[in-house]
Amino acid sequence: MDANEINGVFQELSGIPADPPVKREQCYRCRRPLTVCWCPFLPREPLQVKCSIVILQHPGEEKRCLRTAPMLEYSLPKENFFLFRGRRFSSGTIQGHVASARLQQNEKLKNIFMSPYTVLCYPGPEAVDIETLLTVNDNCTGYNIIVLDGTWPQAKSLYANCKELKKIKQIQINSKVASEYVIRTQPTEKCLSTVETAAIALAILEGKPNLKDVLLSPLKALCNFQLDHGALIHQSKEFLNKSAAVKS
Ligand SMILES: [Zn+2]
Repeated sequence: MDANEINGVFQELSGIPADPPVKREQCYRCRRPLTVCWCPFLPREPLQVKCSIVILQHPGEEKRCLRTAPMLEYSLPKENFFLFRGRRFSSGTIQGHVASARLQQNEKLKNIFMSPYTVLCYPGPEAVDIETLLTVNDNCTGYNIIVLDGTWPQAKSLYANCKELKKIKQIQINSKVASEYVIRTQPTEKCLSTVETAAIALAILEGKPNLKDVLLSPLKALCNFQLDHGALIHQSKEFLNKSAAVKS
């Protein structure tokens, strides 16, 4: 068969009405196919902590396939995890995205912004090394740890568009600590993922180093799934490229 004939066969095949697509069975929690669900790697009981993780999520982040915020959501008690989604969070109001129970959320976010125990994970010029902060064992009050969830440009824009965030004490995880725990999800990604940032910050501020391994266990599982499937993905990509070449 020459290229044209093959092309013709493809067209014929594509003309055949397809059966309703067979949906791969999905986990209702992590929304991943059951074969690569990371839920079994979550702690059996929500972890007992004094600090709260507060995620400010750029709406674009929800669409990325490697969403890590839910790993925190399902590992922590409800009263220690908050997720706010939007493009702008100025004056504690969430704009740019439909938010359910908006008023209640706005009130909560305002309180978080005003609390002296709120810290922001952001590597600004005035950021202090997280290890210089008192742990909850020392001062007994839990911190609200804000993490900006999105790509680096998205995180920068969330920060730039919120004057309240700029007033909050900035903390950074020094590169030595970070490089010890970073799980490379993509060869180009040098930043810590949201779950990594939160897990390291929480472990340090709670004074419980083992927390980070527990919190990172679903991410490690997810990366192993990706590695196991790497060869397959590569192959299918090659196939797609070839069939595209045939068509052109
Ligand atoms: Zn799952």
